[in-house]
Amino acid sequence: MTVPWYEKQLRILHASLGFARNELPTVDLVAFARDVKAQNYNAQHVEYSVSWDGENRIFLFQTDQARAVPRDVLKEYLPEAHKLGIKVFIYVNVHWANKSFIEERPEWVQRKVDGEPLTGMYGGKGTAPCVNTSYLPWIAGLIEEMGSKYPIDGIFLDGPCFYVGTCYCPDCQRLFRERYGVDIREVTTEQHPHWPDFVQFRYDSITHFNAVCREALHKHVPGAPLYMNANGLHSGRWNGRSNRTLIPSQDILGAEGGFIFYGKPMDVPLWKVSGTAKYLEAQARGKPTVIFTAVGHKPWEYPLTAPEIKLNTAATFAAGANPWLGGYQKDLHDPSLIAVADELGFFARHEEALSGTASLAETALLWSEDTADYYGAHMPEIDFIVDRPQAKQEFDYQSSFSGGYEALLRTNTPFAVVDNVGVEAEGALRGMRTLLLTDAACMSAATAAAIREWVRAGGTLVATANSSLYDERGRQRDDFLLADVFGASYVGPRGLSGWDQIQLSAAARARHGLAREDIPSPTYQLRVRALPGAEVAARYYEPTESRYSGKPDVSADPAMLYQRYGQGQCLYIAGSAARHYWTYRIDEWHKLLTFGALESPLLQVLAPSPAVEAILRQRKGGSDWVVHLLNYTGGMERPIKRIVELGDVAIRLRQAKDPARAEALRAGVPLRWRREGDYVVLTLPKLTHHEAIHIVWA
Ligand SMILES: [Zn+2]
Repeated sequence: MTVPWYEKQLRILHASLGFARNELPTVDLVAFARDVKAQNYNAQHVEYSVSWDGENRIFLFQTDQARAVPRDVLKEYLPEAHKLGIKVFIYVNVHWANKSFIEERPEWVQRKVDGEPLTGMYGGKGTAPCVNTSYLPWIAGLIEEMGSKYPIDGIFLDGPCFYVGTCYCPDCQRLFRERYGVDIREVTTEQHPHWPDFVQFRYDSITHFNAVCREALHKHVPGAPLYMNANGLHSGRWNGRSNRTLIPSQDILGAEGGFIFYGKPMDVPLWKVSGTAKYLEAQARGKPTVIFTAVGHKPWEYPLTAPEIKLNTAATFAAGANPWLGGYQKDLHDPSLIAVADELGFFARHEEALSGTASLAETALLWSEDTADYYGAHMPEIDFIVDRPQAKQEFDYQSSFSGGYEALLRTNTPFAVVDNVGVEAEGALRGMRTLLLTDAACMSAATAAAIREWVRAGGTLVATANSSLYDERGRQRDDFLLADVFGASYVGPRGLSGWDQIQLSAAARARHGLAREDIPSPTYQLRVRALPGAEVAARYYEPTESRYSGKPDVSADPAMLYQRYGQGQCLYIAGSAARHYWTYRIDEWHKLLTFGALESPLLQVLAPSPAVEAILRQRKGGSDWVVHLLNYTGGMERPIKRIVELGDVAIRLRQAKDPARAEALRAGVPLRWRREGDYVVLTLPKLTHHEAIHIVWA
């Protein structure tokens, strides 16, 4: 069976044509195609319209729908790209419309509950079209027309999406009433009983839009891929994008994991790209994944530093995805883009060894989509937000997940992201030895049952706070669904801690290798009752009155419980420990949250810096392994301006076989190895921002 071209390694460029409006007629398209090829891209997004200030029917191909066609770019460019072996996705903006465009078609605009159109896109005057209006047949018609007239290879939809406070347009009103028998204008808050229907309605609407556009594409270009700007590592409900709902309508799953800087760079996780790539892999059902990296450092279109953009590209490939670099044609010769070209060249040269791989991680971090949607999570800054939602800090799942990711990264062992659908329906826990639930509050009975069976069969579970206390639509239960596994029964919230501590038992200190008896309390505390058989591993102190008041007595309330469960074990923390770690990085919490991950791991990296993400993957259908090391060590600031190179990095692999061959592909050298019991130990003399070590077993 031949593999479709878009399932092989993709190196995608999106370079908008012409930065100034008057540049477009003079852009040298032949030279542009040569640049794209010379910079090691094998695919690109080419715009079908001029989208400055949003869609305004100024098209770059001949159609009766155009207000103006300043240049037939598709006719000129597609043959040039194809001559050089570059596949072209047509970039179709479907999330941002120019004010004048929408004044002509007011029935297409997204409307707020008071009937006023949405405004303020990107801080400007633009608005957004609604996917449920007759805008859909119009855009599908354009896609069909492009497919009938031009040799296009695929379609990329930028958007579509809803925004906070939309959409209550007449078409959404009609469809919602038909489906749920309710006036959608009544459903404006999370407290409304039809709120879950409102969320699902938006997910289904966006998915329907994609399916119709894909059908239109296939009329003249059967089998061509279509994909959209899908959901990143955050709640999808604000934009109406659920990857799990969308995936049947997508040929590729892609998201903006590499749009890193909007505000203060130091606040952005070092692992935003790798984390998003792992998350997409968990939801893609085996389809290819793409991480979008903005060349632009926001709020301007100023290029990212070379180390940041090289790390973005390397992290994308390392975590099993394909990169898409987005910027402007004018920036193609910027030093940072030249650095990316070099990076792409490395991965292109080693495509055979590095692509078509699957994760070998034995530790899993759960991303609970239901918790992000129905419990509470702040929204990181992204392109598709006009008003940014926040969450009450005690219910901020986004930060809890981030704390878990950060803690696992710094074990320097591999871990995967799994989601609730994967756990309950796709066997995502198969082969996993450790699972971390960071306040995964909303959980279905099927997910809980799968986790319970997995622990019983020998898994190590670490869970915090309200994990499994709510159902999948955010309704609180009387007790944790996993109470038997936690060894803890829910009593109620205990309160917020200002200065509190918890006291660890001697047994817990011995088990986790901790010296101190007292450590800072999670900020949000739960009151739980220990179930028979569970060991109280820590207790809360009574509340501390103020920062410098005397030490209070130890309370009767367990702060942590440990128990054996079947062949497995569980450490339950009755508070927001993962979010606490994300904020304060207390070392004891690092050790507790990562319990089990360092128990004879399949891969462990010992480097002079802990800021090294270790990724282990295996060739699908093969037996050779690839170890990726991502070195985030910079000058203790972001953007990273210079990577601190690391010497003598030890790579320990649990494997009975000896390597027939082990090569550091970037350094271009074979690696020496030695055996230490069950482990093969390789030594890498120098680690730059990234290395890929290819190991063929004897
Ligand atoms: Zn609408």
